[in-house]
Order: sequence, then C-alpha cells, then structure tokens
Amino acid sequence: MNADVGAGEQRDVAVVGAGITGLVLCRELAERGRDVVVLEADDRPGGVIESRRVQGRVVELGPQRTRLTDPVAGLVDELDLEREVVTAPPDLPLYVYRDGRLRRAPLGPGGFLRTDLLSLAGKARFLAEPVAGPPREEESVADYFRRSFGEEGYLHLLGPLFGGIYASDPARMPARHSLIPLWRAFGSPRSFVLSAARRALTGGERPPPCSFAEGLSTLTDALGEDCGDRLRLEAPVSAVARTDRGFRVSVGGGGRRVEARRVVLTVPAAEAADLLAGGGADGGLERLRRLRYNPLAVVHLESDLERRGFGYQISLAEEGFATRGVTWNSSLFGRRGVCTAYLGGMGREEDVGRDDAWLVERAAREFEAITGAPARPLSVHRTRVPAHDESWNARGEGLSAVPPGIHVCANWESQAGIPSRVREARRLAGELDRELGEILDREPARRLDAGGCR
Ligand SMILES: Cc1cc2nc3c(=O)[nH]c(=O)nc-3n(C[C@H](O)[C@H](O)[C@H](O)COP(=O)(O)OP(=O)(O)OC[C@H]3O[C@@H](n4cnc5c(N)ncnc54)[C@H](O)[C@@H]3O)c2cc1C
Repeated sequence: MNADVGAGEQRDVAVVGAGITGLVLCRELAERGRDVVVLEADDRPGGVIESRRVQGRVVELGPQRTRLTDPVAGLVDELDLEREVVTAPPDLPLYVYRDGRLRRAPLGPGGFLRTDLLSLAGKARFLAEPVAGPPREEESVADYFRRSFGEEGYLHLLGPLFGGIYASDPARMPARHSLIPLWRAFGSPRSFVLSAARRALTGGERPPPCSFAEGLSTLTDALGEDCGDRLRLEAPVSAVARTDRGFRVSVGGGGRRVEARRVVLTVPAAEAADLLAGGGADGGLERLRRLRYNPLAVVHLESDLERRGFGYQISLAEEGFATRGVTWNSSLFGRRGVCTAYLGGMGREEDVGRDDAWLVERAAREFEAITGAPARPLSVHRTRVPAHDESWNARGEGLSAVPPGIHVCANWESQAGIPSRVREARRLAGELDRELGEILDREPARRLDAGGCR
C-alpha cells in the first residue's frame, strides 16, 4: 500500500474507495490480469469497517459482525484467515425490550410458540401473514408489516428489527427500496412465515454470525495487503472527467491523476454525485445528493452483564429511550464485557450532534435500566447509514444519469450487507473483465504494445 499517485498513470480500471467493495474488486480484477488501482481518501483501508482496541478491548466502529456465507468464507479461505475467525455460539437468543422486560424474539417456530413478546391474539394475527400476500411496490415497510403480521408483530418485533438495520422509521421506508430486494433475495416467497417454517423443518441453517479475533478489520486489512501497491491511501479523488480513451481521475488538488479505461465508484451517493459533476453528467445526478443517510452514534460500553444473546432492540411502542438497540459483543464473540449501543437515527438526528458526555450518560443509564447491570463508557463514534426512505425514490433516475463507462458498485446502489458487497464486487469484476476484453479486441495496436515482441 502506498500514497503516491503518478502524474499520469494509465490503468485499465480505477476504483474509487477502498471499503470492502473496492478492495474485493481490486483483488478480483488483479486475479483476472487487469491493471487496476484503488484510490482511497483515508489513511487506512476498510471504509465503514473499522475495528479498534480501546482499553485493551476490541470494539467495532461500524458493522459488528457478518455471516460466514459462501462469499465471506471463500475470502477467509483465500486470504488464509481461518485461524483468526470467531463465530457466535449456536442458537443465541435475540431480545426485544417491551413493557419493562427483555423478551425473547422468536427466531423459529418453537420460539414463536414460547415467546411472551407477543400476546396470544398477536401471535394468531401474525400467523395470518400467508393470506396477506407479498410486499407491494407502493406501500411502506410499516404498512406491509401491519397488513401482514398485525400491529403487535410490527411494533414489537419486525418494526424494531428491520428499522434497526437502517436506523430508520419503517413508516418512512417505501417497501421497494429495502424490503422487496430482500424478499427477492429470499426467492420471492408467497409467504415469509411458510418459507421460514419450511426452512426450519428441512433443517436449512443460516451460516453463523462471525468476526475475527481482532475484529472485522482483519478482513479488510488482509485485502489491503493483498492489493499491494495497487492500493493508494490518502488519495482523495476530486473529479472524474471523460477523455478520448476513457477517463481522467484527479486525485487531490495538486495535479496528481490516473488515466483509466473504466472507473468504478464505491463511495457514498453524495460523494459519487460530486465526483461526476465535472464529468459531463447531467442534472439527474443532482438527485443522488438528495439520498438521505441516517446519522448514528455508536457508544461502546463495558459491563459485567452475564447474559447470553445477540443483544436487544427496543420496541417501537416504548417511549423515552434514546437507545435504539444494543449488541452484546461479549456474548457474541467472547469480547469480555463489551456491549455496543446505537443512538440517534431517523427522528432522533439531533441526539447524534450532542456531546460525548450526553451520549455515554444516556447509553449507560438506559443500559442499566433495561438489563439491571451497570455499564461504563469505553468510546463514542459517529457514523451514518443509508436510510432507504422516500428520498431513495430518486435513486433510479440518479443512477441512470451516470455516464457510460463509469460503474457504480456501492452499498446504496445494491444491498449493503458485507456478503452482498463481496458478491456484487465479484459480479462487477467479471463484467468489467468482459468489457475490457472487448475494448482490447478493438485495439490491436495496444495488444501488440502490451505483448512486447509479439
Ligand atoms: C454502523 C453500521 C453497521 C453495519 N452493520 C452491518 C452488519 O452488522 N452486517 C453487515 O453485513 N453489514 C453491516 N453494515 C453494512 C456494511 O458494513 C457496509 O455496507 C459495507 O461495509 C460498505 O462497504 P463499501 O466498501 O461498499 O463502502 P464504504 O465502507 O463506505 O467504503 C467507501 C470508501 O470510499 C472512500 N471514499 C469516499 N470518498 C472518496 C473519494 N472522493 N476519494 C477516495 N475515496 C473516497 C471512503 O473513505 C471509504 O473508505 C453496517 C454499516 C454501518 C455503517
């Protein structure tokens, strides 16, 4: 990894951003023999994936875990990281705080019968879901959950769990941006309930939640090492402009640039729009700037809590809490005493702007009120997540304004989860490889040059 970008390098592909998407793209393109460079503004690879040691404990500033799905397991294997992997114990419960207690969220048919999170009437209503039919393009996530699973199912279970992923209000989230892609990824079932029951009966198990002993950055650091000098850190891209043979990618303000046949943007939506504004793009791009991100405060706590589980979300019917949910990293991955609280998000944006003292006081006080265990602060971090709310209606139009030859492969353009990012990067690498093959076929002179004495 280094920070130098020449005065005018010539590459097949310039990737902007070295989060997991850009890093996997680099690896995949290099493996296909393509000449690729990844330009990263920060002084480290990983993007929102960032693990740190605070007072001797591993904390995650962004995602707390991924799943050992095939794309992730494949990377772990290829990068020789098996010994670093930590997986969550099987059958860990997940809780929702409702009416003064943590109650177990049903994660299967047995759990559904036993849980006291929903009343008997609420359970009966929940099971009517198969007659409601799949989510509709024009409804909100909240409307779909209410229509299909009833008010209790929405308020106490699906609303907090699904809204929690995006730190969003499900009533403000059109189903087509978040829920329908998920439903399609599940194989477009007629009913989520029947499909989950079928999976439970046939023993179909999800890959376990996983991380690494030193946190998820182990994966992105290893990918960064693997990219070698193709990865340029402290290389903020300031503009992308079309040239005769492709694109000129300007880095910083000092005349550093890379010439590339193809450009891939893996950066957040507003940054993508800014970079393309000088690249002959039309006003449609302006729409990308309007895609809302939810600000989120991530507060790491240390506690003697000795409970087994993923952690908890707070029912949408509970009022007066600044906390949205808490991950029990201690129980998940044996990180002694570490818990991670999320505050802010949609509707509570101003909380994220308050000072650290306010955030840690609220997080610790509410943690103790809910679990009964005192907690002391370790650190505070602020981040943001794609909201997938009504502002996302402009995404399609914005994306169609991206000029040909520039690809967007980002967590706001397709699914945000780490396994999806790996899969999307691999898919695009294959597409780019074919595209470049066709370009080079049309350029015999360049092939002769590249072939040396042929
Ligand atoms: C708080 C939080 C919790 C999450 N929890 C989970 C979870 O539990 N499980 C899960 O699977 N997923 C989770 N996700 C989602 C997942 O982590 C992300 O979608 C994924 O890591 C994004 O990777 P990326 O490479 O697409 O984008 P990013 O990580 O955003 O990378 C983009 C990179 O582009 C760089 N950049 C920006 N502008 C420029 C520029 N002009 N020039 C050069 N570089 C630039 C940035 O510095 C950054 O490094 C979570 C995300 C967040 C934020």
